Amino acid sequence: DTPTVRRRMDQLAADGIDVVRVTYPDLIGTERARDILLEHLPAACDHGLAFCRAVYHTSPRGDTVSVAGGLDAGLPDICVTPDLATLTALPWEPGVATCLGNVTDPATGLPAPESPRDLLRAVLNRCAEHGLRPVVGPELEYFLCDAAPDDPQGWHRYSDTDGAIYTAGLRADRDNHLLHMLRLLRDLNIGVSGGNHEYDGSQFEINLTHGDAAEAADRAFRFKSAIKELARKEGRLATFMAKPFNDAGGSGFHLHLSCVDDRGENTFANPAAPYGLSATARHAVAGVLAHAPALTALANPTINSYKRLGPDTLAPWLIDWGLDNRSAMVRIPPERGAGSRLELRLGDASANPYLLIAATIAAALLGVVAGEEPPAPLEGYGYDTARSAALPTSLSAALDALEADTAVTETLGKDFITSYLSYKRDEVARFHRHVTDWEFTEYAYHL
Ligand code: GLU
Ligand code: MG
Ligand code: MG
Repeated sequence: DTPTVRRRMDQLAADGIDVVRVTYPDLIGTERARDILLEHLPAACDHGLAFCRAVYHTSPRGDTVSVAGGLDAGLPDICVTPDLATLTALPWEPGVATCLGNVTDPATGLPAPESPRDLLRAVLNRCAEHGLRPVVGPELEYFLCDAAPDDPQGWHRYSDTDGAIYTAGLRADRDNHLLHMLRLLRDLNIGVSGGNHEYDGSQFEINLTHGDAAEAADRAFRFKSAIKELARKEGRLATFMAKPFNDAGGSGFHLHLSCVDDRGENTFANPAAPYGLSATARHAVAGVLAHAPALTALANPTINSYKRLGPDTLAPWLIDWGLDNRSAMVRIPPERGAGSRLELRLGDASANPYLLIAATIAAALLGVVAGEEPPAPLEGYGYDTARSAALPTSLSAALDALEADTAVTETLGKDFITSYLSYKRDEVARFHRHVTDWEFTEYAYHL
């Protein structure tokens, strides 16, 4: 209400804040932002801020891709209302506070169907109807690049030396990139717990604490935006694309998932049951396995995503699960009791956190509701097609699997699925029209 907003505004002014950046995640999880002067905050909270709905993404070639109700409806507005519960000072931009916004369709006053944040909320409401409260812990990897004007791409890897290996620490981080990130992100209050150098040169992982699924999604979204913004301020490029380099592995977005009851007790734990996992946990694993092909379309959302998945990559390739087994798609980490959980290793860092989390929870929920049982867990090193079915091997195949999985599309909402499929199929079509460097090298000289 207005007095609360006014009090908040006075507090911000006293803290030296004069600009509020209102952001929201678009369909693909990119941050969209509008900066408003602090004195405009009450009006923004009353009426919302207008953003144009039509344009979701403009590729470097200038193609504009629209969601349903956008271009076809004559470029109408969507309305973004600051969610003051998420307001926090931006530690590296004095005078600026940032907050997320709720996205509504002014024509209906309802959440816009393509709003990933609302989609996740709707899935969580479904879970609540079944007495499930999901808890999520995100783990994200990314590559850091230095500007390289002489390089055809304009960038080369930050630390691409022999010492740049898994958990190499400062040997592989000459400018203390990781330390800077951890300290700045701590002050952003997004629940960062720690980080390490990852397997490949210039690849880092930063972990976020687990918590309520909606909050975890907000924090993962803000994390990705913050890392990109901070790298840019250093003149660098941080990329969450799935597989940026031919000679390095990809970047994963591992998702830890469990559920708690009303008293906050982990309902995935049962020391007396097989594997120390409750029936809820087993059904959740079975649901994730059963709906994995559809899930892939949201967990691995780009053309490039499918170059990360494969044998011997620590990214999955087959639809399987295992006990503390990193070669499986679903790993059950060794902790039990309060730490009982599954780790879905499928998603890559380019995934929209809201969609990855919503789709994973939707699949788990379907497994719980149907009381599905998983097959026996994978033993030993995986990646053998004789043992399990394979995941879709292209974005196009994954989109078809999503469309065909009516249980998942119904849980996520038909309007959202329509927008998502049309956006992503356009991406596939644009790629198919594009002549790549690989084709020139492969064909031009010999044919
Ligand atoms: N980079 C691997 C992936 O793409 C994961 C490595 C790890 O286990 O941390 O999923
Ligand atoms: Mg990792
Ligand atoms: Mg992990």
